[in-house]
Amino acid sequence: MNPPERVLIAEDDNVMRLILEKHLSNWGYAAVTVKDGEEALREMEGEEPPRLMLLDWEMPRVDGVEVCRRLRARDNSDPPYIIMVTAKDNAGDMVTCLDAGASDCIRKPFDRDELLARMRVGERTLQLQAQLNEARRKMTQLAMYDALTGIYNRRAAGERLEQELARFRRGGSPLHVGLADLDHFKAVNDQHGHQTGDAVITAFVQGVRSVMRSSDVIGRWGGEEFLIIAPDSATHPNPLFDRILEHTRTLEAPAGEAGVAVRFTVSIGTACAESGETMDDFLLRTDKALYRAKDEGRDRICHAEPGPVKTQTTKPPMPKN
Ligand SMILES: [Mg+2]
Repeated sequence: MNPPERVLIAEDDNVMRLILEKHLSNWGYAAVTVKDGEEALREMEGEEPPRLMLLDWEMPRVDGVEVCRRLRARDNSDPPYIIMVTAKDNAGDMVTCLDAGASDCIRKPFDRDELLARMRVGERTLQLQAQLNEARRKMTQLAMYDALTGIYNRRAAGERLEQELARFRRGGSPLHVGLADLDHFKAVNDQHGHQTGDAVITAFVQGVRSVMRSSDVIGRWGGEEFLIIAPDSATHPNPLFDRILEHTRTLEAPAGEAGVAVRFTVSIGTACAESGETMDDFLLRTDKALYRAKDEGRDRICHAEPGPVKTQTTKPPMPKN
């Protein structure tokens, strides 16, 4: 069973506060009571603030309308549902309190059943809001992360690289990237099946994450190709890539029912960002270095030459694999 919904009661009148508290407890809510708007605001700044509020308009220090305004001014994807409980009773007052950000308004003296009904509306609204937030979180997850490994997908990794490059251009410390491509990956898939291929990719990603710093980033660039971003790395070449290369040699992935573990290696091309260089050129240099690593026998790192890439004209690039 879910714990009772916590409801904030902000009311300076002792009798009214007790009445509200009594009703709420009868209805199965957990009341949190405060005596003025300032305390209410402080309560709403806590770790897990109540999401439903019963707010008196006229209170000392900060009144209810001002509390509404300040709460609505906060950047909050999960705002509280605010029911203003007020003795003011003309239409203009209702407009004022709704315009200030109250979700609903009920007049004192209120009918008990009506208050309960309005609180239920609040709960339904909050439930919808929670569902919407959850759906948005899942959409973001799908749009940004690779389903198999949970790391950034190509688009998110590219955006992250753009950000890091912008930081570098503003005078940040050196920025290294690596393109890492698993060797003979097609053969793994052909011999052991795609499940084993997936296991190899997962093992590789876990391996990289175990040797990188928290500021480093890995994203899935393509099937078995990964972009690794290492910002703020003063040493050149960055030792991270050596760690990845060596650690990968020690990794094993289970190969289906036969139970034989699959060993694998990786080829890495790396480059250090240069000022005035576009992201495409930066990645192109990195990619060329990766091709060189493949060309020279795989299971190795090649560092890109500084400066613009001299485009080769004749030979089309061989598939990496
Ligand atoms: Mg009052």
